[in-house]
Amino acid sequence: MAELTQPATVLSVTDLTPNVRQLVILPKEQKLAYQPGQWVSLKLPVGVHPPLNRAYSLAAPASPSGEMTLVFDRVPDGMGSGYLYQAKPGDELFLSGPHGAFTLPQPNGKELLLIGRYTGLVPLRCMLKALYAHRDRSPILLIAIGPAEGELLYHEEFLSLAMTHPSFRYLPLVATDDEAAVALTVGMLRPLIDGKPHVLPLLCGRKGFVRPLRAYFMEAGYDRKEVKTETYD
Ligand SMILES: Cc1cc2nc3c(=O)[nH]c(=O)nc-3n(C[C@H](O)[C@H](O)[C@H](O)COP(=O)(O)OP(=O)(O)OC[C@H]3O[C@@H](n4cnc5c(N)ncnc54)[C@H](O)[C@@H]3O)c2cc1C
Repeated sequence: MAELTQPATVLSVTDLTPNVRQLVILPKEQKLAYQPGQWVSLKLPVGVHPPLNRAYSLAAPASPSGEMTLVFDRVPDGMGSGYLYQAKPGDELFLSGPHGAFTLPQPNGKELLLIGRYTGLVPLRCMLKALYAHRDRSPILLIAIGPAEGELLYHEEFLSLAMTHPSFRYLPLVATDDEAAVALTVGMLRPLIDGKPHVLPLLCGRKGFVRPLRAYFMEAGYDRKEVKTETYD
């Protein structure tokens, strides 16, 4: 059966950082049931052969009203993110979904290790919101890397989560590019995972960030299937 593409109305536009914007949208025909970590495909009326398909992770768990939150950064010369940056309340976007298998594993008492760079934090934030809405007490460590101090996504929210939930640890880091972010993260990971029982890693960001980290876990004895990843490019 053909997948449903439907219009959605932009309800609000909010800047989260100088280069990251949030859109709250409401599908017009059918509410979408989705799992934290999944994404929708936007069909944007730009490019040589429109529509231009661009994937965006859901930033907040499904709500009874059907509203969905998307968060994206301004990619220099990026056609899709450039178009979205011009969206205003009342505009219409076309989308299909939900898609994707980057979803929460069964914790089975193991620590979740969430690692995201920049907007790679979006699906991880959705997972955290869902877990804490259900008063989950599993141990969680979030390593969040931003490209600059002012671009640490959800920094206040994660700090306050760490203050109120003793099982949640938050490690914010700043690194200007993927390579520097990998080096910094690996430096932090070594004492956390070496010689310890396996944690459940979920990694999200661009390939230049996610792939070397996945390789690091595999060298440390993790099976490919134990390391969940989502890449943005
Ligand atoms: C499953 C999935 C989920 C995604 N979820 C999100 C999301 O929640 N938020 C989000 O901002 N993006 C997300 N993306 C990336 C998004 O789909 C677009 O690729 C991104 O907005 C760039 O599109 P563009 O047309 O503006 O630029 P393009 O011209 O298509 O991209 C230019 C280059 O930018 C790089 N790039 C891709 N994504 C990003 C990014 N987010 N930031 C910086 N550089 C990037 C790539 O290396 C690409 O080669 C997701 C991608 C996938 C596959």
